[in-house]
Amino acid sequence: MEIEKLKRERAVDAVYKVLRQAILNSTLKPGERLHIDQLSEKLDVSLTPVRNAIQQLATEGLVEVLPRSGTFVASLSPKDVEETFDIRCALECLAAEKAVERIQATDLKRLKALVQSLRKPVKNEQDRLQHERDNNDFHFSIIRLSDNQRLYEVYNSLNAHLKIAHIHMGIDSGVSRLKEEQDEHEEIFGALEARDVARVTIAMRHHITRARDSLIASLKEA
Ligand SMILES: [Zn+2]
Repeated sequence: MEIEKLKRERAVDAVYKVLRQAILNSTLKPGERLHIDQLSEKLDVSLTPVRNAIQQLATEGLVEVLPRSGTFVASLSPKDVEETFDIRCALECLAAEKAVERIQATDLKRLKALVQSLRKPVKNEQDRLQHERDNNDFHFSIIRLSDNQRLYEVYNSLNAHLKIAHIHMGIDSGVSRLKEEQDEHEEIFGALEARDVARVTIAMRHHITRARDSLIASLKEA
């Protein structure tokens, strides 16, 4: 009985991971219909773990289950981006403000290394992935420095949307805005190092608002 249960849980987890990855790397495209029976056949599992995994992805906002029409990979509208980034901006400004009180020399060292790594040119897909990891790491480090578990959880629940958003942006528009982004990260770091609350809030708001606007512009272009 116990072994059965464990196996079933693992199948859901495995299906969840595979589908999530496929959505985030655009193997499954925004708006694409998901057929539960086809997926279960392809992944060689029964229908139940596929259904449960899809349920989980729907909770995260990566999948949309529309009654009577079907299950689809979530697509992002400019309005979705605007809403998500506005919340992100509020949370990250608050986190940065709190971080100023708590930041230690070791944290500054770590953030500095990330800012330097984010300066590296982005020439290919590998660089782009590394850049995205460093960028996530930079922003999450500031969120963690707020030492507010609830803030962290709310922020974390927004992340999936941001990842889809990044993919929509594609490599070209991302690269052309890289210089701006690098300067913004450096300004955020500089303000944290100077322990300047007003400056860090302005820098963070500017960075996220600019990212929001570029993303909305790319979505409208596409
Ligand atoms: Zn950033």
